Amino acid sequence: MAMNPYDWIEQSLDTIHRASWYRSVKSIQGRPGAILCLEGQELVNFASNDYLGLAGDERLVQAAITATAELGTGATGSRLLTGHRSLHQALEGAIAQLKQTEAALVFSSGYLANLGTIAAIVGQQDLILSDQFNHSSLKNGAKLSGAFVIEYPHNRVDHLGQILRQHRQNYRRTLIMTDGVFSMDGDLCPLRPLLNLAIEFDCMTLVDEAHGTGVLGQTGAGCVEHFGCSDQPLIQVGTLSKALGSLGGYVAGSASLIDFLRNRASSWIYTTGLTPADTAAALAAIKIIQENPQPRVQLWQNIEQLQELLKHHQIPTFPSSSPIICIPFKDAKTALKASQQLQEQGIFAPAIRPPTVSTSRIRISLMATHQRIHLEKLIQGLLTQGLSG
Ligand SMILES: *Cc1c(COP(=O)(O)O)cnc(C)c1O
Repeated sequence: MAMNPYDWIEQSLDTIHRASWYRSVKSIQGRPGAILCLEGQELVNFASNDYLGLAGDERLVQAAITATAELGTGATGSRLLTGHRSLHQALEGAIAQLKQTEAALVFSSGYLANLGTIAAIVGQQDLILSDQFNHSSLKNGAKLSGAFVIEYPHNRVDHLGQILRQHRQNYRRTLIMTDGVFSMDGDLCPLRPLLNLAIEFDCMTLVDEAHGTGVLGQTGAGCVEHFGCSDQPLIQVGTLSKALGSLGGYVAGSASLIDFLRNRASSWIYTTGLTPADTAAALAAIKIIQENPQPRVQLWQNIEQLQELLKHHQIPTFPSSSPIICIPFKDAKTALKASQQLQEQGIFAPAIRPPTVSTSRIRISLMATHQRIHLEKLIQGLLTQGLSG
């Protein structure tokens, strides 16, 4: 009986390798930007969530330094005990103002904001209707809640309506949840039709604004603003770690929702408050977004330029209305090979493969700080993959 109970790990790793699903980490040097230095090689970065280029911005860096010098490196405790600072309150006020909601609450990450919120607002007597392409944090939040979960086909409002007609009356509360911008595809949720169903069937609606905040909408408030739904009864979740260039997550909504979460969201109650540095950096980012639309305008000009170039060269893409633009490949191996060849040409554009997505692809994400020559270089790289239709 000399068996090793950990043998299965190496066997599982072998399987992952054989399916071309294996992933590992690589060290990036220096401050984030449109050009990254990866193990000594300079590459144009098409894989950043730092849409507005704020993560390397001097104003955020200085805000973090000042807050650290004044308040220290750690919050030292949970917000309900010794970890609450007026800086947290200022950030929550700024998020609520940006989102045009009554209140907001910051979590240690967007992932934890979703887990905590979903598990707090629904339970075993309830139903969750979740888009098939939703982010992992929404899916795992649904599992943690103990609610009955039905996944509806991506963006299919007609299917969602059928499910509601069939199942809604069997449950106490129902939560419809969706990414605003779908993170691996770049398309948007049909927010108005989803809200119409939510109203008709007495459902709550949660929208994940991780890739929308700072990017979409007249004032950069996100996908909800883009669709003119800021006045609707919604639960908005998002992250401080993408366009806001910091670390942390948030929920924005009614004052009673936020008050309830402070009392019931375990991933907020039983964890340490955000660091002064992260909090101050995110606050500085929101100020910049509200005072100066220029980075957002530049980002959208880049999106239009790249879309035009792709169309001109007949390079196929998935439908997108965001800085996330994906190019389909027939399998994980070819996508991986294309990504490696792009890297040899000075372009960092990762292959996204199963199990993250069902169809393998190269995923491009654009930043305000990309220049025309970067986009042209990307197109040249893609053309040498023989991608042109
Ligand atoms: C990145 C992301 C999150 C998680 O945010 P973190 O702050 O990085 O934990 C949640 N939802 C979506 C759609 C995301 O893309």
